[in-house]
Amino acid sequence: MELIDGKKINAEVKAEIAKEVEKIIANGGKRPNLAVILIGEDGASATYVGSKIKTCHEVGFESTDVKFPESVSEDEVLAKITEINNNPNIDGLIVQLPLPKHISEHKIIEAIDYKKDVDGFHPVNTGRMAMGLPSFLPATPAGIVELFRRYNIDTEGKNCVVLGRSNIVGTPMGLLMSRKATPGNATVTICHSRTKNLKEVCANADILIAAIGQCEFVTADMVKEGAVVVDVGIHRVKSDKTKSGWKLLGDVKFDEVAPKCSYITPVPGGVGPMTIISLLKNTLLAAQGKIYRK
Ligand code: NDP
Repeated sequence: MELIDGKKINAEVKAEIAKEVEKIIANGGKRPNLAVILIGEDGASATYVGSKIKTCHEVGFESTDVKFPESVSEDEVLAKITEINNNPNIDGLIVQLPLPKHISEHKIIEAIDYKKDVDGFHPVNTGRMAMGLPSFLPATPAGIVELFRRYNIDTEGKNCVVLGRSNIVGTPMGLLMSRKATPGNATVTICHSRTKNLKEVCANADILIAAIGQCEFVTADMVKEGAVVVDVGIHRVKSDKTKSGWKLLGDVKFDEVAPKCSYITPVPGGVGPMTIISLLKNTLLAAQGKIYRK
């Protein structure tokens, strides 16, 4: 069994991005600038935004940090998005999810200029991805594809099962794995809460990608000998064995599943570090006009 080291790949990609930024500056260009809108005081969201901004600065990007209180109106957020869309100094814009209940996620996502939609959630980017056209790819699935690429994991013709069909992970993951591309070219099954015989479906997978948001859901009896297992889940649970009193677990019961796998991602240190770095990669591509001409 080989552990897929997301931290190591994160460091590699980060160094590559930083080098690209140096080149841009050496050629008289400006630093890529990522705008991040955070609404409300949710602790997890604030932590994610904090690490996104910190990583921006580590690779030499600028960031534009916008914070609104929970009580902000939808119109105020939409007005800010329009302002950022029209600001030529800003290359990428993300709005941290989830949003307060009185704000429509669809409206917010659709208001973002798709040419700055570095989260890859806008329908134009989703549609273009589905058609195999250049687009900003959603960060988590793109990060997983990058792990397959860098570990030379063969996906062609493989039976790939994706657990979960959310718009940000499961569905785009399925699309990327079935694309005519490398990595890709897999035969994909997407599972969800209405799937019948889930255990049997999973146990047939050469590649199993778990993104269902259920702590340690995937057990050894659901995994084929020699399978590649990718664990997207993040669950913070109490622990008396750590200093902080907390530990992170995934959607996969790691200790019993790992011995059966050819490759597996740990939690933490697997998919998580790839999500942020993919967002930064998209921002670099946006700044360079490599997906959509500026
Ligand atoms: P969602 O809750 O949006 O989606 C969960 C999906 O799993 C849904 O499609 C749901 O089915 C399905 N599901 C839930 N329970 C079951 C079940 N018992 N049997 C079969 N299917 C089930 O989650 P996300 O996609 O946003 O996230 C998934 C996990 O990944 C979470 O733990 C999240 O924290 C983590 N995550 C990690 C990231 C990272 O960077 N590592 C980034 C994003 C998410 P249905 O559609 O029928 O309801």
